[in-house]
This record gives sequence, C-alpha cells and structure tokens, in this order.
Amino acid sequence: MTEPAGFSTRQVHVGDEAAAADPRALPIYLSAGFRFTDLEHSADHFGTGAGFGYSRTGNPTVDAVERRLASLEGGDQAVLVSSGQAAVVVALLSVLSAGDHLISATQIYEGTRGLLTHNLERLGIETTFVDANSAEAWRSAIRPNTRAMFAETLSNARNDVLDIAAVSAVADVHGIPLIVDSTFTTPYLLRPIEHGAAIVVHSASKFLAGQGSVLGGVIVDDGRFDVAKSGPLFPHLTTPDRLGGPSYTEKHGPRARGQYIRESVAPRLGPTPSPLNAFFIGQGIETLSLRVDRQSANALAVARWLAERPEVVRVDYAGLPSHPHHALAERYLPRGAGSVFTFTLEGGKDAARHVVETLELVTHMTHLGDVRSLILHPASTSHSARSDAEREEAGVHPGTLRISIGIEDIDDIVRDLANALDTIPARASDRQAVVL
Ligand SMILES: *Cc1c(COP(=O)(O)O)cnc(C)c1O
Repeated sequence: MTEPAGFSTRQVHVGDEAAAADPRALPIYLSAGFRFTDLEHSADHFGTGAGFGYSRTGNPTVDAVERRLASLEGGDQAVLVSSGQAAVVVALLSVLSAGDHLISATQIYEGTRGLLTHNLERLGIETTFVDANSAEAWRSAIRPNTRAMFAETLSNARNDVLDIAAVSAVADVHGIPLIVDSTFTTPYLLRPIEHGAAIVVHSASKFLAGQGSVLGGVIVDDGRFDVAKSGPLFPHLTTPDRLGGPSYTEKHGPRARGQYIRESVAPRLGPTPSPLNAFFIGQGIETLSLRVDRQSANALAVARWLAERPEVVRVDYAGLPSHPHHALAERYLPRGAGSVFTFTLEGGKDAARHVVETLELVTHMTHLGDVRSLILHPASTSHSARSDAEREEAGVHPGTLRISIGIEDIDDIVRDLANALDTIPARASDRQAVVL
C-alpha cells in the first residue's frame, strides 16, 4: 500500500503490522479479526471454519492454549471460554435440550447448582440430584429422557472423591455422557477421560491460571462420540443442516459433539475469552505441575497439623487416612489430593470469625487454586443460601472453614494458622455443644 497522506488515515493504517519475528513465548493476538488474502480465502473460512477470521470463532493465542489443554487432559479437543461458569453452561447446553433430564451429584459448586435449579429449569431442563458415590443412585435416577450426568471430581466442602469409572459405566450403558468438573484436581492430578468421562470442564480461573489474575474456563471433549449408539439420543448432532447438508455426525463422526461445542454452542452463546486472558492461562499452565505438587504437599502437611489441634473437631481432606474416601483418593489421585479442603472449629462461628479476621498471611477471600493461601467461611458465604439441613449434609457447619493452600513456605503457613488458633477467645470454644 502506498503511504496515505491524511493524518486520520495514517493514525489507523501506518505501523499496524508487526515486523516478522519468531517469538519464543506465545504471542498475544489481541485482534478482533484477521485479514483474508482473497475471496477464496474468506469463502473457505466461512465454509469450513479453517483458519482464523473473527476472534469469537477462533484466535491463534486461544487456539494454542486449547491445544495445550486438550493434550494435558488426554482429550480430543478443548474449547476455551471466558469463565468456569461459562464452561459448565456450554458443556451442558451442547447435550441438553428443552424436555431433557439431567442427573447431577448433590454436592457441586454453588454457581452450578443455581444454574441447574434455576436457569436450566426455566429452559425446561429438569435435574435430579443424587449421592455422587452411590452408583445405584445414578442408575435408578435414569429416565427415558436423561441425556447427561454431571459431577465434580473432588467436592467442596466434604472433599468427596468421585468414582469416575463406576459412574461413567452407568452413563455408558445408556449412551449418555458423564460431564465432570475437574477444577479441584487439574489435569496434573487426574485425567477423568482416562477413567471414562466424556467431557471435562474446568474453571481456569483457579489452578490453571494459578495466580489469581484472570478468569477463564475450558471444555474438553473426549472425541469418542458413539454415533450408532448415542446418535438417536442427540438429534441436533445427527440432523442434516438447514439446507440439507451433512449433519455433525456425518461430517465429524466421533468428534461430532466436540465440533458442535466449538462451532454451534460456544460462539453463539458468546462467552469468548480475551486473547490476553488466554495468554495468562497458557503461561500459568507452564508451571501447573510444579505448583500443584507443592500445593498438595503443603496441604497434606497443613491437614495433618490441623487434625492434631485441640481447637479443630474435624478435617475433611481426602489425603488423610481418616477421610471416608481415602482409598478412592489413593486410586484416582496418586500424585496428591489437591490443596482445597475444609476443617471445622470446635468454637463454631465465633471461632471461625476470629480465625479469618486474625490470619495475616492466609488471605480471607473467595477464590481457590491460587499460589497464595486463601480462606473462606462457607456457611455465611458460598453456602448461605442453603438450609441448615443441606449445609450439614454438605459438611458445612457453623465452625467450618475452607482453605486453599498456596506455595508459600510451609512453616509460614503453619505459623499463621497457629497464631490464629492459639488466640481463639475461650468464650468461643465454650460454645462447642451448640454448634456441632
Ligand atoms: C470456581 C468454580 C467454578 C466457576 O468458575 P468461574 O471461573 O468462577 O466462573 C465452577 N466449578 C468449580 C468447581 C469452581 O471451583
């Protein structure tokens, strides 16, 4: 292009192309769209989806992070979205239609619970909640219109470990997918697809990004859609397109569901990740194994230490032999049971208040999977909209605190906790009988 003369023209056109270079770190393609070379190129992009045209349907930075996540999960393809909540919505709406039925574990993230009981309910999708660790409960909840099962690998607050193989076996019999939220376990500790899950979702805001700066989410599809067996249950994948062209299953076979998520659900509902956030998530993942190793080791040490403290009546950490799912943790989580768990103070809510307000190193906030240690009082925050009975069932008592252990030196974490526990006013612990 010959250099234009006008000031306004030059301010948007001159110098808008970076010099050719070969950066070692992932470049951030912070661009809404991408140039087409000629008419064939644009037509081909719109026809086949190949290459990059507009960042809501594809972006090179986002694509690189998606390939990294698909590889680490052992899945076929990953779709990055703007939050963990968006990942759950996109995954569920890729398989469920009005009139369909979902079976979900009772103990799930509160945001997901609200999505199922309120938003999806309004769209005509009904959910039955079951005890995640009873294969029989999943089996007997199946109805002719059940189209998916949903559970978390490690639950908040009781730290229940999901028996993925047992639950996915039930789903398989009926040709429906088990969708697993693996936020607490990360692909480093657990790869649910290897145990039979069909779709894995994460809040990438937590361990994957790892440093508490950005939000993100990801859906990983296993690419094992059984067209013959499951096709009839999911007509949106098998019906020809509006002009009579081939269906998703005709075009993509076992990858049909993953492609449907990528082409028809995520870009239409629109929770597109910023390429800048994708970069931070991609960079975070580069140290995932190092952080999670350290966090899990720190968490085990803290859990053991807390279990010995007189102010603490219970510690719900699957990495401890006292936990009812410890054997499952040994089977599914040989590298460590993660770093998010709860412990319950004898002194009830007053003691919990004292601890969160006294800790200095451990930050009082709602988040988890950060390099920093964080703490929250679930009964008055995440679980405040639940009945007392529901809270008890979830393992959330007035004196329960959820902690997410970071990568700090273990001695410093323990010293901070020791100071908070040592200074609980006697008055608070006198109330023990009332609280548990
Ligand atoms: C945080 C979280 C979510 C929601 O993720 P956001 O990134 O906050 O939208 C979903 N599931 C689990 C288990 C979570 O911890």
